[in-house]
Amino acid sequence: MRVTIVGTGYVGLVTGACLADIGHIVTCVDIDPAKAEAIERGEAFLYEPGLQAILDRHAGATLRGTTDLAAAVCASDLTMIAVGTPSAGGRIDLSYIETAARQIGEALRDGGAPHVVVVKSTVVPGTTEDVVAPILLECSGRSLGDGLGVAMNPEFLAEGNAVADFATPDRIVLGVADSLSERALRELYAPFEGVDLLVTTPRTAEAIKYASNAALATLISFSNEIGNLVATLPGVDVRTVMEGLQLDRRWSPILEDGSRVRPGVLSYLAAGCGFGGSCFPKDVEALAGFARAQGVGSTMLDGVLAVNALQPTQVVDMLERGLGRLTGKRIAVLGVAFKPNTDDVRASATLSVVRSLLDAGAIVGAFDPIATITARAVLDRACTLHDSLAEAVAGVDAVAVMTAWPEFHELPSLIAGRAPPPLVVDGRRMLDPASVERYVGIGLGPKREEAPTRP
Ligand code: NAD
Repeated sequence: MRVTIVGTGYVGLVTGACLADIGHIVTCVDIDPAKAEAIERGEAFLYEPGLQAILDRHAGATLRGTTDLAAAVCASDLTMIAVGTPSAGGRIDLSYIETAARQIGEALRDGGAPHVVVVKSTVVPGTTEDVVAPILLECSGRSLGDGLGVAMNPEFLAEGNAVADFATPDRIVLGVADSLSERALRELYAPFEGVDLLVTTPRTAEAIKYASNAALATLISFSNEIGNLVATLPGVDVRTVMEGLQLDRRWSPILEDGSRVRPGVLSYLAAGCGFGGSCFPKDVEALAGFARAQGVGSTMLDGVLAVNALQPTQVVDMLERGLGRLTGKRIAVLGVAFKPNTDDVRASATLSVVRSLLDAGAIVGAFDPIATITARAVLDRACTLHDSLAEAVAGVDAVAVMTAWPEFHELPSLIAGRAPPPLVVDGRRMLDPASVERYVGIGLGPKREEAPTRP
């Protein structure tokens, strides 16, 4: 099929490249000419494992980049909208979606073959049918199901694993409003025969995406609240608590041969310094705002957000408890990406920790193995961005581990024998507490001998 992707960010580029890889002819449109030109040159402008190899295979041939939306739409059978849907004032901001819908509708105005428009962006329930479809119909002058199909197809890729997620999807959800769009989407995803396909309404598809993200974010905030509680208990470690919880056969089923299934969802049942990125924070916020607008409560979602907003302060508190006043203290912050294997730094917990440390008068340096360009764009100028882990931790009073990059397992050997030993605050609980001299971590209670005795 001939496919246009409108909005070539993380989702648009990965989706466009992967659709080209399964045999479609794809044009990626962006208002940013630098992105369109990078695709034309075959350069992945964001870090995602496996992405560059796909561009090497298809860029300039069945994968093109352009800023000319109208030409791309008119020359294709199906257009996907993958523009951003930020959160503004606790509600979803649909302005990019509306603009894209208007531009696509106008491009389709002069007639031509039937066309299907698919919303890929994460949007609150009702958006496709009540916002996107009316704009498309008005601007194109076409009628629904005849010259124009409208659908919602939520994206479940996880940054850092997005190419693999696309290649081996766990589900494909088609929220279709008409048979034209259902036929087109079935054809688009035909190579994924055997994958669970859920065909439903656009509203349900939109709700599925939010429910999926909110469920995972809830597990993280739940784990963090448990972690904060057990950190007050002498000799108790949230990692052991969570391991015990996860061994419940309802989380980790026992097979007939006695072995355990360890589902991927268990990785969300772990305490850390909070979730970030371009999805969970804004999507939970948008869902809570939507729930309020619908006149139903958002108590649970508000709690998830409240726990998360405070979680980075746990790291700052641990640094203060270990170092005393932070003024003039040299602190290395390891990891700026919101999680490993991505260069995405949007809403990363690191950003708020760096800000708090600078406000407290600390001398802050950061290091990230991949997210350097993106980090420089968002980090406070007063924070030095180092070129290597060794350089970042040289001569510091403390180190805060904020992203679980595997490279940071080298930290213990880099600081071994240093006198005085730097304090290591493990915001991701990725290091062995015994591997460094001065260790504190999220969800780790004081050693029994250090615990204050009860009166
Ligand atoms: P992004 O900000 O990385 O990319 C959006 C792109 O759209 C930008 O490059 C922007 O320049 C472009 N754009 C905006 N208006 C345009 C227009 N009128 N015409 C052409 N281009 C336009 O966003 P993203 O992270 O890719 O997310 C896109 C959507 O997908 C959001 O709704 C997000 O919630 C959802 N989503 C994201 C992820 C993820 O992991 N990033 C996963 C699933 C779903």
